[in-house]
Amino acid sequence: MSTLNPPSSSSDTEDLSLQLIDESKTYNPQTFSYFKDLNIEKCGLNYHIVSVFGSQSTGKSTLLNALFGTRFDVMNEIQRRQTTKGIWMALAKSASPQLLKSSLASDASASSASTSTPNILVLDVEGTDGRERGEDQDFERKSALFALATSEVLIVNMWESQVGLYQGANMGLLKTVFEVNLTLFQNASTKPNRSRILFVIRDHIGTTPLANLQATVVADLKRIWESLSKPPPAANTNLEDFFDLQFYALPHKILMPEQFSASTAQLSQYFTDASSSSYVFNPEYHRGVPIDGWPIYSEKIWEQIEDNKDLDLPTQQILVARFRCEEIAAQAWVTFETGLAEAQKATNSGLGGPKVVEGFGRMIESIRSGTLDIFDSLASRYEKSVYRSKRADLLNKVDTRLANLYKAQLLALHKKAVAIFNNAVSASTKEESKSIPFIDVLRKARSDALDFFVSSATEASVDPHVFIHTDELSNLEAELDDAETKAKRQEIKKISAKILKKIKSTLFNDLEGYFQSPEEDTWDKVLTFFNNTIQFAVSSATKLPTDKNGLVDGSKAPDFGVGASPEENEQSIFRIRSEAWIALDTRLKEIIKEDNILLRLRENFEDLFRYDDNGVPLVWKAGDDIEAPYLKAREQALKILPVYSNAVTKSGQPIIPDVDLEKYYAEHLEDSGDFVVENSAFSTRLSVNRQQEITKKFKKQADAAYVEAKRSTTQVFSR
Ligand code: GDP
Ligand code: MG
Repeated sequence: MSTLNPPSSSSDTEDLSLQLIDESKTYNPQTFSYFKDLNIEKCGLNYHIVSVFGSQSTGKSTLLNALFGTRFDVMNEIQRRQTTKGIWMALAKSASPQLLKSSLASDASASSASTSTPNILVLDVEGTDGRERGEDQDFERKSALFALATSEVLIVNMWESQVGLYQGANMGLLKTVFEVNLTLFQNASTKPNRSRILFVIRDHIGTTPLANLQATVVADLKRIWESLSKPPPAANTNLEDFFDLQFYALPHKILMPEQFSASTAQLSQYFTDASSSSYVFNPEYHRGVPIDGWPIYSEKIWEQIEDNKDLDLPTQQILVARFRCEEIAAQAWVTFETGLAEAQKATNSGLGGPKVVEGFGRMIESIRSGTLDIFDSLASRYEKSVYRSKRADLLNKVDTRLANLYKAQLLALHKKAVAIFNNAVSASTKEESKSIPFIDVLRKARSDALDFFVSSATEASVDPHVFIHTDELSNLEAELDDAETKAKRQEIKKISAKILKKIKSTLFNDLEGYFQSPEEDTWDKVLTFFNNTIQFAVSSATKLPTDKNGLVDGSKAPDFGVGASPEENEQSIFRIRSEAWIALDTRLKEIIKEDNILLRLRENFEDLFRYDDNGVPLVWKAGDDIEAPYLKAREQALKILPVYSNAVTKSGQPIIPDVDLEKYYAEHLEDSGDFVVENSAFSTRLSVNRQQEITKKFKKQADAAYVEAKRSTTQVFSR
């Protein structure tokens, strides 16, 4: 037997009815897809469940079809056999087709769905035959329990002729309904929901007014209620504590078809016209299970009933809430992951690292709220504590993943902040006219970099308690400290290079002059010149540090104005002085060269030997004593050699560099080149051997002058 009726030839799912529970008491697993196809999950709690009870073949299915436009199977007039087996379900459509359609639209928002006419789901329950058959009694009890656990309105369908037949099938059925309601009460932590029982009296002839029929039924019901043995919590309860009763009479369908259809049309208004005093629904009847959770709710309920377990509806509702909230969270998670993947793509620089994304915060906020919106739209209708806790779980999961993305973004922001700093520094040092002091450039570059980082990181954070950047900020500060130190060092290096250039060029231009006519105090002068040169070059590019009173503090090294520490300033001055001494050494080596010295010795010698005191050239005559002046001039000329050879002050102090060059070389290995200058060896400009060699060479040249002088007297003589 098909579980869907009519078979799938009908295109509209809402026309189909579903066999929810079949005759072998199996719950139909297709219920889930049936609900999906109905596409009514957005209506949340805005729906109703109605079920019908009654003896077999009393026109129940006919009634439902007439009231709700459903298409439940109806007994064929000729065969007269029972058609409805188990429990069938269908979606009402007759009430207000247009409104119903609009609330079925797949993208109808939850709010519009909840303001539109509620969907009515109708349960057609297999009828009882009134016989005391074990099998039937079991199903009757179970279906009654099921209907009570799910339905807001129970329609009890009976012939007028059955009214007052206390022993009839209907009364047996109602007794069962009351009994199972009491068991629900006994097991539940709270009082079960009230429900409405709507008695529909069929084939009402009219001779007995409905009020009289009603009074008879109510009297019977009260009798039944009294006869029940009640569990202690229900001991003093009345029928009215659990059920609202309502009555309606219908004329004979076959004999009075027009009246019948007019009457059913009027009754159907009871289900749709909320303003009517006969409106059957009441919020307190609702089981509180959002419609998307109804399949799982009904399945669990049936499972419990089938296993003869005690039914505790509130517990079931919590279980369903948990189950559904998890399912909905999983659904939201799928959307989240898609959004996350897109965001990951957007933040990927393609170079193996994250990149800075404008509006990163807005981007992740929309992923986050989009995910929560999906969850909230369905889950918010479930039990509040379950909903809140599942929402917190979901948000936590979402935030954990987003936090990773945020961290990656912070990394990109960090890189960019460092670049902002470095660019500002290098741009300022490129400018030839430095209008802004370097120290201010650094300060501004640093605050620009930090401002950028903090404001971007704050924008990128959608929850200041979850997305935090304190660690990253201190990392950045540490890196900026390093970059600043490096920048200062480089700036000092540049200033130092300029100072040294000045020193070297002064040495190149002016040092040689001191060695034109070396004297006793030549090295005193050289030393003074050298120190002044350094002093001048350094002071033109630095400032002397001042104490707190604004007075120059002579005990400290000059300041390079880049915000370096006194130690660093000291260090740089040491370096400049060391390199100045090395430059001095180099320049001295160029000046104090053998050829230069020989030339100077010869010039000296010739001045003495070939000129008189007035600078007039001497002309030797025959018989002149040449040898004595020659020896004297030679000796006199050689007196300048020790001045060249030893850098010693007039007072006899050898000149030693006032910086530790050994230390300098140790610190600047890369600058040491092929040979090094030693402090102790500095004053020895020419070794004894070299002096002897020079003396020898000079003497030879002097001798030649002597011989020539001698020859000239001889020539005069011989003439
Ligand atoms: P169900 O078993 O209670 O669902 O009854 P059905 O709806 O299948 O109807 C059983 C039989 O009763 C069918 O042959 C119907 O034509 C007939 N029937 C339906 N409505 C009425 C009615 O108002 N009065 C009478 N006498 N028969 C009806
Ligand atoms: Mg039927």
